[in-house]
Amino acid sequence: MYIIMLGAPGSGKGTIGNELCDNYGLTHIATGDIFRNEIKNQTDLGKKASEYISKGQLVPDEITVSMVESNIKEIDDVLLDGFPRTIEQAEALKVFCAENNKRIVSVINLNVPDEDIVTRTSSRVTCPNKECGASFNTVFMPPKVEGKCDRCGTELVKRPDDNPDTIRERLKTYHDETEPLIDFYKKEELLENIDINIYDENVKEKTTKSAIERINNRVND
Ligand code: ADP
Ligand code: ZN
Repeated sequence: MYIIMLGAPGSGKGTIGNELCDNYGLTHIATGDIFRNEIKNQTDLGKKASEYISKGQLVPDEITVSMVESNIKEIDDVLLDGFPRTIEQAEALKVFCAENNKRIVSVINLNVPDEDIVTRTSSRVTCPNKECGASFNTVFMPPKVEGKCDRCGTELVKRPDDNPDTIRERLKTYHDETEPLIDFYKKEELLENIDINIYDENVKEKTTKSAIERINNRVND
């Protein structure tokens, strides 16, 4: 099965996605993490992607789609975090699923107001270990040991694109190019919308519980 995480940058796709992966035994495919790893290894793909990522723009569809398809081809149960991000990517994924006998079970949309996105993303720290990629927040969700990843112990870093100017650019990109997917997946009858209150200290547990309930209802359908 495929589960898709949808939502603005910093809405919690990676954090909730990790919980869903643990619960359902899914493989976490995060396009941003794949790009960052390519950038770190200075590959051709990484060099191309970094031009867009540093400006808060999307990497072009043809590059992104073929990269995702080659990553998920051999895997049955996948959580997609950060893909699709455009209607064109969603159409490509639909064709890929039909051709490869895969089923998108649900699209979980995390709905966070823009002001809260800027607040939360500015204080985000992430795990650079490519097997992990967990996110924490120095204000809202601090790691148990300061500066260290709860999941794997790696030293946490601040992403270069998590600065207020680039965040605002990414939010604009989100509204222009990704938000239309909410309607796309509503029409496909796959959308589950969850409103997020970042000031609720139990938000991670509540959101995870709600996502699992909704996915279970669909799996049992
Ligand atoms: P966030 O959800 O916090 O914005 P990601 O780690 O998912 O961060 O993505 C970081 C950057 O990688 C994006 O701003 C974009 O430039 C690029 N990117 C990630 N996924 C895609 C995608 N599906 N299509 C195009 N670009 C992408
Ligand atoms: Zn980690």
